[in-house]
Amino acid sequence: MSEELKNIDKKYVLNTYSKNYTNFKSGINATLFDDSGKDYVDFTSGIGVVSVGHGNKQVADTIYKQVSNITHTSNLYMIEPQIKLAQQITKLAGYEVGTFFANSGAEANEGAIKIARKYGEKNFEKKRYKVITLKHSFHGRTITTVKATGQDKFHAPHFAPYPDGFSYDNTIDDIYNSIDDETVAVMIELVQGEGGVQPFDKKDIQELAKFLNDNKILLIVDEVQTGVYRTGEFLASNLYEIQPDIITLAKGLGGGVPIGAVITKHKDILEPGDHGSTFGGNYLSTATGLEVLNILEDYKVSGKLDEAIIYFEEKLDTLYKKYSNLFLESVGLGLMRGLRVRDEQTLASIVSKAFENGVLVLKAGKNTLRLLPVLTISKEEIDEGFKRLGDALEEIS
Ligand SMILES: *Cc1c(COP(=O)(O)O)cnc(C)c1O
Repeated sequence: MSEELKNIDKKYVLNTYSKNYTNFKSGINATLFDDSGKDYVDFTSGIGVVSVGHGNKQVADTIYKQVSNITHTSNLYMIEPQIKLAQQITKLAGYEVGTFFANSGAEANEGAIKIARKYGEKNFEKKRYKVITLKHSFHGRTITTVKATGQDKFHAPHFAPYPDGFSYDNTIDDIYNSIDDETVAVMIELVQGEGGVQPFDKKDIQELAKFLNDNKILLIVDEVQTGVYRTGEFLASNLYEIQPDIITLAKGLGGGVPIGAVITKHKDILEPGDHGSTFGGNYLSTATGLEVLNILEDYKVSGKLDEAIIYFEEKLDTLYKKYSNLFLESVGLGLMRGLRVRDEQTLASIVSKAFENGVLVLKAGKNTLRLLPVLTISKEEIDEGFKRLGDALEEIS
């Protein structure tokens, strides 16, 4: 069955991902089941997407109720759950922002860059349009966001020419020297996800935010991965105690339903006709996003999220110390964690051995073992996942 599906996949689905051909059939919270009935503890949550778990009953009921009524009208009409979600985002962010709804992280970042470019025209005598990003960043796969991504391997010549106006710095400190009279924005992740689960120093970020604000240059924080409680607060920006000009969200916001969001305190830059999206902000995605935020807000307020983070950290730390021969460093924040592995080959064998032992883990950057568990993961699932991961490491070390 699985073998036959694999052949059809190879024949009809474009070959853009090197994938594992396991056929997952069902899931509950942080546990997945394949077509043979084998179970896996999911330490990936679909790359940080399934924030409230697989098969979440509350989310399923919300989706069913919404789509049996209205799924989509268009942004030519008012959309009640979109309005409520935008209001809820301001409440949780803790400062007054307006939201534009998109369908993915890359599309949210495109929106952020458009806002920045128009801001650069409106607010300076000579138009400013340049955006500085960082090495090892990841901002998406569209032509513009791939160019914004500070990793050469993504700038393949096949897809050239790329849009102008992007440059990359190695460190936060370097940014100060590369700003010129055409720089309109600095776009960063607070914890680089794809680049290797690397958090930046809080003081450095706060200083940068202040400097940019004093100089009327925009700070865009790409929270596509860090947002929606991944680091323990609604936004990593809340944890870092900054109020960026623009923040983008996507992955965890829809619990698996595609959604992206650009949030900004510059609510008057975009005007009718400047930007849009057919699907963005429709009834399905925003009703789902609202339910996901309601679940996670309760989970945070009740102290359960912090408990899960502490418990996960303890188990991770024990594993890291026990297998110190394999690892160089433990990195990350909240439920966005990484272990730097001594070399790339060892990392590849950890990922495949972990899978054989029934635990799903991710790779990030060159040599980082990345863990992005479901935020609502239970203690039993954490115990079981680390037991299986430990068994895999035992076989390797
Ligand atoms: C995943 C990711 C993106 C891209 O999101 P898509 O939904 O795949 O377009 C952008 N930025 C960051 C930080 C991400 O982690």
